[in-house]
Amino acid sequence: MITMKDIVREGHPALRKKSKEVVMPPSEEEVKTLKKMLEFLKNSQDDELCEKYKLRPGVGLAAPQLGITKRMIAVHFEDFNGKKYSYGLFNPKIISHSVEQAYLAAGEGCLSVDRPIEGYVPRYARITVKATDIEGNEIKLRLKDYAAIVMQHEIDHLNGVMFYDHINEDNPFHAPSNARAIE
Ligand code: ZN
Repeated sequence: MITMKDIVREGHPALRKKSKEVVMPPSEEEVKTLKKMLEFLKNSQDDELCEKYKLRPGVGLAAPQLGITKRMIAVHFEDFNGKKYSYGLFNPKIISHSVEQAYLAAGEGCLSVDRPIEGYVPRYARITVKATDIEGNEIKLRLKDYAAIVMQHEIDHLNGVMFYDHINEDNPFHAPSNARAIE
């Protein structure tokens, strides 16, 4: 199983690389890795396992965070309305997005970043993502608000982008005029 020692931190070159597309169909090893990534997120949200293995709770994980520069991400979370999302995705791609932006009022964090970083991270409020799921199905997801933000954070990792790259340097709490706070 994946534990915190498997997750690379800031300064590791994999976090700044553009990851490669996974050739379809994925190899057995790629499927196994993606399943383990999703399992890590579930474990990290289980109080007992979290404590036992000293995991940091996470809602998303991208392959580059394991030092693997392939376009694979896992997400496992509930949105603020209690709707559940749990996906392992190959080659996720944003195919359309809103003009309106949204940001988490509490800011963002990352399993690869061990220091608190304050500030708003403006992202698209709504996105449509195309991907291949763990079972090999081509899927299209329409996401908004928190779900859209989590997905964009993970897809950013595939392009070598960290969440704090989006924070306004002069004023970290500057909210763009077309951005809505999600709290
Ligand atoms: Zn992250």
